[in-house]
Amino acid sequence: MAIHTLYPAERGNLRLSFEYFPPKNDEMEVQLFQTVSDLSAFGPAFVTMTYGAGGSTKARSLTAVRRMINEEGCADTAAHLTCVGASRAEVDAIVTEFIDSGVRHFVALRGDPQGGIGARYEPFPGGYETAAALVAAIRSRGDFEISVSAYPEKHPESPNVDADIDMLKRKVDSGATRALTQFFFDNNDFERYLERVRRAGINIPVVPGILPINNLTQVRKFAGLCGATVPDAIVTRLIHLDESPQERFKEATLIAAEQIVDLARRGLRDFHVYTMNRSPLVSAVCDLVGFERVKRTVLQATGAAA
Ligand code: FAD
Repeated sequence: MAIHTLYPAERGNLRLSFEYFPPKNDEMEVQLFQTVSDLSAFGPAFVTMTYGAGGSTKARSLTAVRRMINEEGCADTAAHLTCVGASRAEVDAIVTEFIDSGVRHFVALRGDPQGGIGARYEPFPGGYETAAALVAAIRSRGDFEISVSAYPEKHPESPNVDADIDMLKRKVDSGATRALTQFFFDNNDFERYLERVRRAGINIPVVPGILPINNLTQVRKFAGLCGATVPDAIVTRLIHLDESPQERFKEATLIAAEQIVDLARRGLRDFHVYTMNRSPLVSAVCDLVGFERVKRTVLQATGAAA
């Protein structure tokens, strides 16, 4: 059985979503929108735009989301939003700005402490205290899609997985319609987590977060901060390829494709890919798995699109 590529009969109903972050300068802006354009070839069900800690990229998030919706043809852009560093009135005003910009899907988060990951989280005075409270506030505004986070390997602040699942349940009870997970690399961790989520009576889609590894050192550092594990088997496959970018790219493609193919064979249909605003590796993974490129791109390339 192929381990990197799905057979055509296995590909039915697979859906992709892509996560982007707002650019910090002109060069990053060019790269973001080139990536968005490249990856639109895979016809994602939706894309998401992150929201910076402490509201540091509030304006950039809004600008990027507006461009995605109004200029890049990404009507299904979900706006991330956190409770950090803002009063309820300020958060409500941002929600209004997103809605007025055409947003119909939010990713509602508590956010990291203003002191950075690892610092103690203090709710902002007069702000929303939890992601569940933010979900309820957005739900009160209308019939929006509301995605929330989930942590197959436990959130670092959480005493145990049950506390995380209780928090997820509170978010669902407040109106969340989908969970997007933190990235993970061991599908058994995800499957065990999903079983516990279902046993807790949570029935919304829980979409696995896939992070193709562009840079092993960075991913190990980031994983350490957010409580995710990079298995030794993956480190071993990549660590000796630092000096061979082409081999490293190929191996990273195989690793992510194997993970998606295995999840698809376990019955998963939706995949949320952390793009890091770069398309080559993500495109290579999607091609290898067997995601079809939508015809629209071919038409556009020949100038035949309306
Ligand atoms: P929650 O799910 O609300 O909480 C995480 C865990 O912390 C809970 O499960 C619980 O165990 C514990 N906890 C939280 N509050 C309490 C409480 N009051 N009492 C007891 N325990 C509590 N960060 C950004 O800044 N911007 C983004 O755009 C962004 N996007 C993300 C997208 C995804 C898919 C994911 C997985 C994470 C994202 N993050 C983002 C990171 C996220 O903000 C951090 O992980 C943050 O520390 C937790 O926010 P949350 O909404 O996931 O928290």
